[in-house]
Amino acid sequence: MSIQELESQFTSGVYTKRPIALVRGAGAHVWDSDENEYVDCVGGQGSVNIGHANPVVADAIARQAKTLITCPEMFYNDRRAELEQKLTALAGMPRVFLCNSGTEAVEAAIKFARLATKRTGIIAAMRGFHGRTFGALSATWEKKYREPFEPLVPDYSHIAYNDVAALEAAVDHKTAAVLLEVVQGEGGVRPGTAEFLLKAQEVCQERGALLILDEVQTGFGRTGKMFAFQHYGLQPDLMCLAKSMAGGFPMGATLIGSRVGQLPPQVHGSTFGGNPLGCAASLAAIDFIERQQLADRAAELGAWFLEQLKQIESSLVREVRGLGLMVGVELKQKVTPYLQELMKHGVLALPAGLTTLRFLPPLVVEQDDLEKVVEAVSKVLNVEIA
Ligand SMILES: *Cc1c(COP(=O)(O)O)cnc(C)c1O
Repeated sequence: MSIQELESQFTSGVYTKRPIALVRGAGAHVWDSDENEYVDCVGGQGSVNIGHANPVVADAIARQAKTLITCPEMFYNDRRAELEQKLTALAGMPRVFLCNSGTEAVEAAIKFARLATKRTGIIAAMRGFHGRTFGALSATWEKKYREPFEPLVPDYSHIAYNDVAALEAAVDHKTAAVLLEVVQGEGGVRPGTAEFLLKAQEVCQERGALLILDEVQTGFGRTGKMFAFQHYGLQPDLMCLAKSMAGGFPMGATLIGSRVGQLPPQVHGSTFGGNPLGCAASLAAIDFIERQQLADRAAELGAWFLEQLKQIESSLVREVRGLGLMVGVELKQKVTPYLQELMKHGVLALPAGLTTLRFLPPLVVEQDDLEKVVEAVSKVLNVEIA
């Protein structure tokens, strides 16, 4: 049986799959089981900023695996201590909670916000995406993710993203937190305006609420800064990280600001959270991002890539937008057939919502590769596809 047949028989069924089986990667490239090569602008859904099969991270993982893989947080650990120091310094925030995925990072932030404020209201944004567990799902906007699981967690509400008046009207004495992406990813690659994000911070501070920034997708150099909030001079009270945090190894973190205060012991935790293997991977990945100046690279290549995509003349394009190497091309119709066509041209890309093509290449991508992507997009968008 083929890989595809095997998986089709035994997998849960919750994923729509593309017909290829990926078996190998290097940098910004991946290969399928028939040895076809692709420029990978899916990039593990944004979790492989440092590139596939990065030898620095692979070595760090191998070394740590032979030393100590697991160590629950009832004990201290050398790798974890190092990572906690590194993350808090990078974020300019005093404390951190370590976990294993984006949704867990959001879940922790919401719980910490309710604890710290003794309030329950969570205000999120329309088109926002924050994960699939109940707390995070309740903040996620998309109906098809939410409706099958209702009733969700109470006291959540949604306002239009980048709508300053709606924000001012929504935050009150019951609001524990405002939870926002700095650039909406799944919702269509939509950068927040400085006015909106700064107002969110100001309103939260004035009214005793906390600002949670979900940087799961935008973190670790993706948008041209280590964290996207640094473009705006923001200071979140809680920040959620995951995806590229450990070079593709599953890991998440919730950074905790000074307005959160001391958290009582035993109120939250995770068996695998802060495991030495993940911490070693993350330390190596962050070190690689800094040494190779991948955030600057994302800023430069991203600006060039965006400009090239804007120059594609096609009546199918509604808007091209993005920040750094987080780029979206919104079409006037559904993107699924175009994603399939791109694959035939050796380019893997993501959807963002129904009508936006999303590109999240590893930040080590070469300009040559992005040229191929632009060429493929141009070809595909100038051919009518039924
Ligand atoms: C991917 C993503 C999540 C969820 O992360 P998982 O690791 O899939 O749970 C949450 N927030 C944002 C902004 C994301 O892009």
